[in-house]
Order: sequence, then structure tokens, then C-alpha cells
Amino acid sequence: MKKIGVLTSGGDAPGMNAAVMAVAKSAALYGMPLVGIKRGYNGLLRKSTSLYDDMEELRLDTVLDIADRPGTYLRTARCMEFLDPAWREVAANTLRAMGIEGLVVIGGDGSFHGAEYLCELGIHCIGIPGTIDNDLAYTEMTLGYDTAVNVCVNAVRAIRATSRSHDRPHVVEVMGRHCGDIALTTAVSTGAEIVLVPEVPWSVEEVADRLNQQIAKGNYRATIVVAEGCWESMAPFDMYTFLNSHGKRCYEGEPISSLRFASILKRMCGMVEVRSTVVGYTQRGEQPTARDSAFAFEAGHLAVRLLRDGISNQVIGMRDGQVYYTSIDTALQAERPFRRALYDLVNSL
Ligand code: ADP
Repeated sequence: MKKIGVLTSGGDAPGMNAAVMAVAKSAALYGMPLVGIKRGYNGLLRKSTSLYDDMEELRLDTVLDIADRPGTYLRTARCMEFLDPAWREVAANTLRAMGIEGLVVIGGDGSFHGAEYLCELGIHCIGIPGTIDNDLAYTEMTLGYDTAVNVCVNAVRAIRATSRSHDRPHVVEVMGRHCGDIALTTAVSTGAEIVLVPEVPWSVEEVADRLNQQIAKGNYRATIVVAEGCWESMAPFDMYTFLNSHGKRCYEGEPISSLRFASILKRMCGMVEVRSTVVGYTQRGEQPTARDSAFAFEAGHLAVRLLRDGISNQVIGMRDGQVYYTSIDTALQAERPFRRALYDLVNSL
């Protein structure tokens, strides 16, 4: 293999740059020129007026400084055209015209689907899991997850200081899309009293009961960690009627949020205040932790070694603490286990 490319796709995640740096170092070691493709698959569609807008030769001295930075130097973006076979053909032709024979795709399951299609068109592809959500079943970790959890843990610790001072409960919302792993690990790491995730059905009444039990025990400052996707597993609740009849203005059809949830709990539990904080995009903005950086280093190197050896259509992951690879197809079909026992433990202590 003479020349390879690398791109980041899907949501940005701390550790993506570290993986690009490892890819660049390994490509340099094997004497393979490396092209960085910008804004996910968009950079392959040649819709920009200048080539530099779409891709850039990645030399070692360009990337050595980016490894520790959050975000992605190559940029990332959705590319809806990639769902269309005709556009994927354009992408494969661009790669062929540039002499790029192999591609490292750093992203989540959507990005891996795109890579699988490119493999069918004769482009060798290797995927590296890059998403803070940890929603890929075939791997024990994804780049950015550990960093995001650490941000959330620090946020909860900081919030605890004020919760303790005022003796009031606090709802803390963390990211993860349809996956509750960030919430669960954050809850376990901080000793939160309640955790809510999309994987397990729950009801407002039942959470208010649990909070009331804490209050009865003299704990007026419980932490309730909620995953951003937890509303999808919530039993129907007429927030509009409840809040308006309890003196809080609420609009019909308004979606539930952490802020509204805190308002409801305050009224159901007779507290003076229940506050809420959404940790939000700070979860993506920290330098990668040592764990994420180390995984990025090994994964980046393995990806290039596989391409050098003519191996394609694979994704890299972590299994039993070891970096390994498996076919994209197997990875995408794997079923994600949810740590239900741990969830039950948090909610029962
Ligand atoms: P993630 O990779 O984190 O799951 P997305 O689901 O947004 O993020 O996917 C990233 C990109 O991957 C999409 O913008 C699109 O370019 C490509 N992609 C996603 N799903 C498919 C698919 N089914 N077929 C081809 N390309 C896809």
C-alpha cells in the first residue's frame, strides 16, 4: 500500500487527534504518505472550490502538536450524501484519483457503515471507535468516553459542594445519546443516589418516592444523574397539568427537560429547592485522559499496520483490556450489554 488517508466523522471526541497522530507516526514508520480528509466523508466528495479545503497532506511535524488537544484538527461533519450509493462512488473515485488505497475512519457506528460501503467499492478501510457515548457493543471502550466521564465526575463533585451547602438535591444531566454508560459510570464514581438511563424504564412517581426515602433518612442533598436519553424510557407523565396546578407556569406540549424534572421533584418531595445542571458540551472539550490517549496510540498504530498488511473491512476495539480487531460487520451486529446489576445497586443504596 503506497498512500493512505485518515478522517474523523460523527461527533467529535477527545482522543481523535491523538489517534490521528498515532496514524501519522505509524504511516511515517512504514514510509506511507498520509492524507488527512476534512469534515468526515464530505472531504471525499470534491464539492469545495479548493482541494486544500477537502484534504491536506499530514506530515509528522503538522500533527505532533495536536495529539493532546480535544476536538478534531481534521474537523468533522455529517455527510448525508454518503447514504446515496452514487455519492459513495464519487468518494471512491476521488480516493483512487489521489492514489489513496486505504482509509482509517475514526467515528461511531454510522461512520463504520460508510466505511463498510467504501470497502465494497474496493477501498481498504479500518475503523477506530471515536465517540464519547460508548455505544459500540463490540468494544469495552471508545475514544473520548473516559474523558467525558471524568468531566462529569468533576462536575458532580463541584455541584455537590453547593448541594451540601444548601441541603438541596440536584439533577445532573450528562450526554450519551441513547446510551446510559456515561450516566451510570458517573453515578457509580460519585456515589450518586439515583441514576436514570434510556435502557431502563422509569417513572417520575417512582423517582420522587426514592428521593423522599432519601429525605426521610436525613439526606437532603441527593444527586440524581440523568442520561440525556433517559426521557425516552420515562413513563407518560402530564407535566403540563402537574406544574400548572402546583403554581409553576408550563406550556402545553413543552418537552420534559432536567430543569422541568427538578421543578416536578421539588413539588412532589416538598423541598424548598431542587436544582438542575446540564453538563453539556464541556464533556467533549477536555484534553484526553491517559486511558483515552493510550488507546488512541495503540489503535492508530494497529490501523496502519493492518492497512500495510493488506487487511481491510475491520474495526479496532478493546476486549478483556487488550486492543484487538474484528470485521465491521461483526462489530455492527454485536448486542450491547447494559450493566443492569450496577444500575440497580446505585438506585438501591
Ligand atoms: P457516528 O459515526 O458517530 O455514529 P453518524 O451516525 O452521524 O455518527 O454518522 C456519521 C456519518 O457517517 C454520517 O454523516 C454519514 O456520512 C455516514 N453514515 C452514517 N450512516 C450511514 C449509512 N447507513 N450508510 C453510509 N454512510 C453512513
